[in-house]
Amino acid sequence: MLCEQKYGALINSFSSASGEITDLEAEGCRDFITIDCSRNEVHKSSQDPTTPHNDSSDVESAPLQTSITPDIKCLVFPRGDISRFKPARPDSSGILGYYLLDAASVLPVLALDVRPGQTVLDLCAAPGGKTLALLQAHSVNHLWANDLSVSRTGRLRKILQSYVPKECLDEENIHITCIDGRELGMREEKSFDRVLVDVPCTTDRHSAVVEENNIFKRSRTKERQKLPLLQIQLLVAGIQAARQGGLIVYSTCSLSQLQNECVVQQAISVAQEELGITVQVQDLRWFTQRFSDTFHFAPQLSVGELVLPHLCANFGPIYMCKLQRMN
Ligand code: SAM
Repeated sequence: MLCEQKYGALINSFSSASGEITDLEAEGCRDFITIDCSRNEVHKSSQDPTTPHNDSSDVESAPLQTSITPDIKCLVFPRGDISRFKPARPDSSGILGYYLLDAASVLPVLALDVRPGQTVLDLCAAPGGKTLALLQAHSVNHLWANDLSVSRTGRLRKILQSYVPKECLDEENIHITCIDGRELGMREEKSFDRVLVDVPCTTDRHSAVVEENNIFKRSRTKERQKLPLLQIQLLVAGIQAARQGGLIVYSTCSLSQLQNECVVQQAISVAQEELGITVQVQDLRWFTQRFSDTFHFAPQLSVGELVLPHLCANFGPIYMCKLQRMN
């Protein structure tokens, strides 16, 4: 993590700038999503497990999700190549052609597998990299992007204004709020087909290299110790906000087992014991197989998958776990 981080260019399908992809390919980049998916056989599941179910037995017999949201493109330089991206160009309306981010942070969005017409809640959305990735699929019917921080929500709005045309940013399509995500579980119970819970965490790569306001400072000990509880509460809220059969993806950019697997396991038991909600962990091993040319995954976690920073593929850390609400 002390070496320079690798980025990916998330292609902005709202931009009319031509030639962005060709130019990036000419520099040696490739779209890891298309390439890794065509290398492995894409099995489209015949039934969407999140179409509303009245009978819970239907949900339990739903097939495993093994498809990838189409239309999201993220270009990366090959393994071992640490070239930098040029800044994105604006099109004639000022909309930028691509957004630079840790390519591994697109994986939780891909795992969420948004289908056309679905409603999506992005519970901790700012500054908005994953929100923008969610919008690229053009299949979201309604996206609610929320974040507790007023200033970070301001950054989210600015990013969306730079990447999404005004006419697509109306309240009907994208609802932006600044609320404690823990409140949304009860308030918006059983409302969403998909919920992304990208929680505040120790942001390990950032903490390893940036001194300022570092979460590992003694003055922030209490806040750091409270993180796992906050993460559990946010994940439980996300589970509560999902419809029966809906999918929830929990993600962090931490290596900590306490903030990753332990949080998921604890949230599953809180949801069951305190709210009577049963959730099932979805297998993401196919994901690690499909994207193993691009990312280095940690072996054998009990729930979820973790992208480990690696000298030849210095992305991450990104942990993700996919859950399905069963009742
Ligand atoms: N998903 C974002 C992205 O891809 O750009 C990154 C999210 S960041 C890891 C975690 C976010 O959680 C921070 O922006 C923080 O302000 C927000 N947050 C912290 N506590 C929260 C709470 N109780 N409810 C909602 N958001 C919260």
